[in-house]
Amino acid sequence: MINAETQLYGVMGNPVRHSLSPIIHNGAFRRMGLNAAYLAFEVKNLAEAVSGIKGLGIRGVSVTIPFKTQIIPFLDQLDEVAGKIQAVNTICNEGGKLIGYNTDWQGALAALEQKVDLEGKRVLLLGAGGAARAIAFGLKVRGCQVFICNRSPQKAVDLANELGFVHRPLSFNGRMDADVLVNATSAGMSPNDEESLVPKEILAKEVTVMDIVYKPLRTKLLREAEERGCQTIDGLEMLALQGAAQVEIWTGKKPEIEKIKEDLRRALE
Ligand code: NAP
Repeated sequence: MINAETQLYGVMGNPVRHSLSPIIHNGAFRRMGLNAAYLAFEVKNLAEAVSGIKGLGIRGVSVTIPFKTQIIPFLDQLDEVAGKIQAVNTICNEGGKLIGYNTDWQGALAALEQKVDLEGKRVLLLGAGGAARAIAFGLKVRGCQVFICNRSPQKAVDLANELGFVHRPLSFNGRMDADVLVNATSAGMSPNDEESLVPKEILAKEVTVMDIVYKPLRTKLLREAEERGCQTIDGLEMLALQGAAQVEIWTGKKPEIEKIKEDLRRALE
């Protein structure tokens, strides 16, 4: 029940009306018995929105496109990895002090590590945008050997150089030479459901394939990877796990991850 004790949380983005974050968080808060509510805020002026967080004592905020990097100068403190990634998807308001975190990398790594031991693995990472950047930093933490491909090659070169990884062109000469493939681009996202950057023939059954796109849940890449006998991980895993990590930052408690996935699956299907 919402009353005078209710703690307010939310997501800031623009556009934001499609966001699944309210489903993740309101369900988790309810099951955890917390007197808390989570709303979506379509933000036009970031400085004013940040004043609102402080002024109204909003307890925690998720940050999404296009504010993940723009938010940094407004924060009082930055978690070390978020500082390295230069992207924040989570703000915790500690008595008026805004602290920035990045749970995208944690969610992606946790999703991968449910299925594969990453230590010493060769990972082919498609993309060099915000999500790819967060995942690349996570893979660096795990000591993976990473190859980065991107449609705009210079962005892949820059990211690879920054992390001591290798850049590869986004074309495949009949082989993949990797243990794990991660699509961190928007390719295959609805309405482009029939798009995949990877030719089906080069998907060997030994490769674990993760697609972080979650609309649709079974992207063309994942459908073809399954047909080739690969182990697959869909975008719902990362989405649920990055959200669960946010709940833990805000409340100090772990939510029930399987229930979050159930809520998301229902919303997406
Ligand atoms: P972003 O910063 O805008 O980056 C987009 C990336 O996708 C860039 O590397 C871009 O290449 C590439 N790209 C876009 N369309 C492409 C196409 N048709 N062919 C080849 N490459 C293409 O976006 P983002 O925040 O990284 O998000 C990327 C995707 O991940 C989105 O679909 C988003 O919904 C999803 N995502 C999922 C989660 C999750 O929890 N599951 C979390 C974050 C994001 P260029 O550099 O050449 O433009």
